[in-house]
Amino acid sequence: MNLYLGLDFGTSGARAVVIDSNFQVKAQTQYVWENTQQNKLPHVWQTALFNLISHIPQEMRGEIRAIAIDGTSATVLLCNSYGEPVTEALLYNDSRGVAMMDKLKSIAPSNHPVISATSSFAKLLWLIENISLSNQTYYFLHQADWLGFLLHRKLGVSDYNNVLKLGYDVGDLSYPDWLTDFVNSEVGGNILLPEVVTPGAIVGNVTPEVVNSLGLSPECVVCGGTTDSIAAFIASGANTPGEAVTSLGSTLVLKLLSRTRVDDAKYGIYSHRLGDLWLVGGASNTGGAVLRHFFTDAELSSLSSQIDPNTESGLDYYPLLQKGDRFPINDPELLPRLAPRPENSVKFIHGLLEGIAKIELRGYELLQALSAATLTNVYTAGGGAKNPIFTAIRGRYLQVPITKAVYTDAAYGSAVLASRQFIAQ
Ligand code: ADP
Repeated sequence: MNLYLGLDFGTSGARAVVIDSNFQVKAQTQYVWENTQQNKLPHVWQTALFNLISHIPQEMRGEIRAIAIDGTSATVLLCNSYGEPVTEALLYNDSRGVAMMDKLKSIAPSNHPVISATSSFAKLLWLIENISLSNQTYYFLHQADWLGFLLHRKLGVSDYNNVLKLGYDVGDLSYPDWLTDFVNSEVGGNILLPEVVTPGAIVGNVTPEVVNSLGLSPECVVCGGTTDSIAAFIASGANTPGEAVTSLGSTLVLKLLSRTRVDDAKYGIYSHRLGDLWLVGGASNTGGAVLRHFFTDAELSSLSSQIDPNTESGLDYYPLLQKGDRFPINDPELLPRLAPRPENSVKFIHGLLEGIAKIELRGYELLQALSAATLTNVYTAGGGAKNPIFTAIRGRYLQVPITKAVYTDAAYGSAVLASRQFIAQ
């Protein structure tokens, strides 16, 4: 039997999911981050990687045909030519690159997705400016690239999802001149940018050492990885233009599959490549964090069950915790609209859920207008997905079928990615 292993290195921990050729889950393991000291991080990830795999039942480990790994987007590190980290890892939300913004804007084209204090490119600039480099060769890697290296030992390989925020041109499938010229002139080519493969493409077999230590088959291959949010999208099963995934976590994140690439920095919209299609996404500051500010999860669930989702609340909210939103309204001064607040909590929640649903509708209207894709159905992930009244309210606005994604786990999405070269999908 062929099995496929997906490994997800997320914000709170790491998870492994093993699936069979019918995409059924056969085993799962997880590892919660305990030691979050930044200078120890790559080694914590390494421990987690080997721990996760070694806890998969032995009889399954020998059947694993392919492995794919996802990591948090724009979590990066610099390694020497042995693949040893020479710097601490700079995490996805590490904003020390804010000091590099002027330089960044002078190098990258305007409105490019790398123009953000937390982009991989901002972190590369920060490293170049702040780390004393010797004459040796260094490899700039993402978290998923480095973890893959530990299994196949091919140093300097990434995938076109992870390198998007480094500046890689996912349309042309090449590094643009502005990026390569900069690296060559600034560090004389001493820092190598990763070679880029398609997510899910075979990179190489696991090494004999890994076979011995983890009981994997020598036939087992490691594939190009992806980022955690793309892996979660893949997990949902959405694969046709017009299908979308709404993530109702602390914030509201929309992703719509389209034939057209859309990048619009004004709204913080950018597109990830997914084979021949584009995953067009935008994120609003509204979402569950506003709900949680007023109510516990238990209150949300019991009070919302008293709402009639087919009626209007009569309230016109734009739920935010503080001023400013980027998508679907780009206005850093946009004020939260949460008044008037009715005394009845059920009515208040009704207004809040409607407010979020209206922002979701407006978001999809904008994504459809820019991408020319027509929304056909929406899968939902995140804490808000478990509220059927919320789903019914959203359905009233969106007017398309809304289903709770059966699988939302990024590790499951990575396992599906690992199976791509072996199963027709
Ligand atoms: P994140 O990973 O972004 O922290 P989760 O996917 O864990 O978010 O979802 C947590 C959010 O879900 C919270 O902000 C909470 O307000 C929201 N939530 C939890 N239960 C409900 C519910 N019954 N109805 C609507 N939202 C809910």
